[in-house]
Parts: sequence; C-alpha cells; structure tokens
Amino acid sequence: MGSQSKLSILFTSEEIEATVSKLAAEIRQDYLGKHPILIGVLKGSFMFMADLIRLLDFPLEVEFIRLSSYGGGRKSSGKIKVVQGLQSEVRGRHILVIEDIVDTGLTTGFLLDYLGKKKPASLRLCALTDKPSRRKTPVTIDYRGLTVPDKFIVGYGLDWDEKFRYLPDICVLENEG
Ligand code: 5GP
Repeated sequence: MGSQSKLSILFTSEEIEATVSKLAAEIRQDYLGKHPILIGVLKGSFMFMADLIRLLDFPLEVEFIRLSSYGGGRKSSGKIKVVQGLQSEVRGRHILVIEDIVDTGLTTGFLLDYLGKKKPASLRLCALTDKPSRRKTPVTIDYRGLTVPDKFIVGYGLDWDEKFRYLPDICVLENEG
C-alpha cells in the first residue's frame, strides 16, 4: 500500500456523532433498568464504544472481546477464534454486542453463536456500520448505524494493517492504479 492508496471521506465526524446519538437513544430506551453488559469487539469498536457509552447515563457494565479475523490483510480468512475472552459471567445477563462493522457476517455470526451458548437473558447486536452487499451469513442487526458500500473503510477505530484508526471521519481506502 502506501503511495498507491488514497483516502476519501465517506462519513464525516458530524455524521458519525449524529448516528451514535441516535443509536444511544434507542439503546437507552430498551436497556434502562436492565443493567446490561455491553461487549465491544476489539480492536475496531473501541472508539465507537467510548462515544456510545458516554451517552448512556444508566448502570451498565463494559466488556471487551477480541477475535481473530482479518490478520492484517483485506480479506477475512473465515476462520475465527476468541483471542481474548470475557471476564464477566454472561449467563442470565442482558448482553449487547458492539461491533464496528458487519461485513460478511462470519465474525459476528460466530460471536453471537459463542455468546448464545452461554445462556444470556437476552442477546442483541449494535453495529456502527453495515456492508450488506458482502454478507455470506445472515446476521440480525438490532441497532444499525451507517450502511456502507462494498468498499474498504478506515478511520474512527477501523484500521488497515493497524493504520488510520485515529482518523475522526470514516474514509474509503482506495487503491490507485
Ligand atoms: P466479517 O466477518 O463480517 O467479514 O468481518 C468482520 C471484521 O472484518 C470486522 O470486525 C473488521 O475487523 C473487518 N472488516 C470488514 N470490513 C472492513 C472494512 O471495510 N474496513 C476495515 N477496517 N475492517 C473491515
């Protein structure tokens, strides 16, 4: 990559902020008084998770899980495993998974399956971005943010090979030439 790639803004920080506020309002309405556990999927969801939780002014718990997925490239291997697991007991709790992006759905599908086996009281998914054109396995997104085209996006926590996570906007990473 390097000199061959170009960034163009897909969603500005203002558009992201409005989306996060909308999602937070929906989540607040459904989870107030339920003391949910929000599980952020590392690393891409960390920025979204922080902004979202700042807007949720009721008791909840925060967890993170790390799964292997892309491994530095642009293509998912389709092989998924838990690299860093949970500290909290999930059984009987209201669980809300916080994803940066649902692409093929393989990672999220695996995670929902994995968590479902732990018998939570409820299990839902919030995804900041959704790339439906690439779906290989159906995934129900209960709280959906922005729909993205079939392009590789970076910024607002999302990386390409650990680069560009710091960008405040969500950008398309395009190959030139
Ligand atoms: P899936 O299993 O749904 O194909 O992919 C899920 C993971 O792939 C995401 O959590 C993310 O890490 C990575 N991914 C998929 N599409 C993109 C993209 O457009 N940009 C970035 N940065 N990561 C992506």
